[in-house]
Amino acid sequence: MDSLATVPPMLVEDAPRCVLAVYAHPDDPEIACGGTLARWARAGSEVHVLLCTRGEKGSADPKMKGADLARRRAAEVAEAATVLGLASHQQLRIADGELDNTTELRRDLVTAIRRLRPEAVICPDPTAVFFGNRYFNHHDHREVGWATLDAVAPAASNPHYFPNAGPVHRVARVFLSATLDPDAWVDISETIDVKVDALACHKTQLDEAGEWFRGFVKERAQEAGRAVGVAYAESFRLLSLSG
Ligand SMILES: [Zn+2]
Repeated sequence: MDSLATVPPMLVEDAPRCVLAVYAHPDDPEIACGGTLARWARAGSEVHVLLCTRGEKGSADPKMKGADLARRRAAEVAEAATVLGLASHQQLRIADGELDNTTELRRDLVTAIRRLRPEAVICPDPTAVFFGNRYFNHHDHREVGWATLDAVAPAASNPHYFPNAGPVHRVARVFLSATLDPDAWVDISETIDVKVDALACHKTQLDEAGEWFRGFVKERAQEAGRAVGVAYAESFRLLSLSG
């Protein structure tokens, strides 16, 4: 017997006119939604990425200097942005691993939202903490998810929040990635290779595991695709805030 609470899997076919993806670390957008960003960019969307940190702790090498790694990773971000077809990419300078949902961060996010005026925002699902018993979500991913939600509503659309951060803007949809409660899927069969190529730009994060990682990324996208009967997909929890 079907439960009344059952939500049929939804394939998101349209491309938002303008999209802002907000993530913590340089390679997070590619992992979370690179196929979707590339698909929408190809469909004519204006796709922007805002990264809150420079990822200077993304190395297990104790000799690696944070400033050097941040510089290398900034170049990787730029390369990946070209592969994905982004309209812009921006990096805040919050310390990697020390991202908190502060008033200052929310002001920066509201400023970006009011300037770029995206129809849709993509960010991590901050309620997703435990993925099975082998991984729990990074502190920065949870915090950036909450900060982005708080910036979207009510802050960006309310003139009493950050009155000097530009004219108010109402975001219509929020796509939460890396969610445990997916209810919307984007078919990335045409852009799975773009996602993998964009990820491959992040050479500081791949090293010898590169080939394994390609396979892993494709398998995960295949798994998501099975839910909606397409070859490759990315899944989201979708919030429709308009109306
Ligand atoms: Zn990350």
